[in-house]
Amino acid sequence: MIIMKQSVKIRTRFAPSPSGDLHLGHGYSAKLNYDFACAHNGDFILRIEDIDHLRCKRQFEQSIFDDLKWLGLKWPTPIRRQSEHFDDYQKALDKLQNMTLLYPCFCSRKDILDEINESTRAPHMRPKLGPEGIIYPGTCRHLSPQERAQKIAKNIPHALRLDMEKALKTVGKDLYWTDLKSGEQLADPTLLGDVVLARKDFPTSYHLSVVVDDHIQEISHVIRGQDLYYASHLHRLLQHLLDLNTVIYDHHPLLVTPDGNRLAKRDKSITLKSIKQSGVDAKAIDALIKQYL
Ligand code: GLU
Repeated sequence: MIIMKQSVKIRTRFAPSPSGDLHLGHGYSAKLNYDFACAHNGDFILRIEDIDHLRCKRQFEQSIFDDLKWLGLKWPTPIRRQSEHFDDYQKALDKLQNMTLLYPCFCSRKDILDEINESTRAPHMRPKLGPEGIIYPGTCRHLSPQERAQKIAKNIPHALRLDMEKALKTVGKDLYWTDLKSGEQLADPTLLGDVVLARKDFPTSYHLSVVVDDHIQEISHVIRGQDLYYASHLHRLLQHLLDLNTVIYDHHPLLVTPDGNRLAKRDKSITLKSIKQSGVDAKAIDALIKQYL
């Protein structure tokens, strides 16, 4: 197991989005971060990832506090809310813009699907499938400066995508990230393609904000679910491009229901709130988690 050099203070974080009640899997992730920090005399931080103003609600934020307190977790206040720091994400975007690594993407979901359906007619142009679904086919990467300017003048909403190929050329060498259990990993962010770094509806994205915040908050270890394993490849690239601190990653297994489905925020029976209301003692939570691992 890899712990950082003695001089580096261990700091972990749990960073939920207040878009629903936390479920048992979130409790597991939060506890892993908390216990790791405590075991190494480090700090545990709670961060609220609420950039998506359409999905995030203050009422869920309060439930997060209540549920984590019920689990016995403590964290320093004030906490960082991403929605209060859009200027930090803008600085990072500006830096990538100045490096000419971003391009505006005007595609709707339907445009992307249409483009993919078109290309499937020609088998040699099959869309590439990444671990998180179909990789963006790059439609808007090929627009001329005039076409871009015309669309912007017409106020067609656009996202900003990372030009992955160009970004990797800029780096010009292999990048590695450290996995807590298995050591050095070669970063392969091409697995995610030209990811969106600023969305149409708000000027940042999960991927961008998370690396900026982990840097600002001096996080040393990011312990999160296996579903974010591929995101870590991209995050390593963004850390390099933006000159941010790297962190050590650990990806824990996701909890699954007896029929093999991942726990989801919509499964009301397995939220921390409903577990608490059913009279389960918070001390019994580890045993309950084991039943879903
Ligand atoms: N807000 C993200 C989530 O709830 C956090 C992911 C991470 O830990 O990086 O999935």
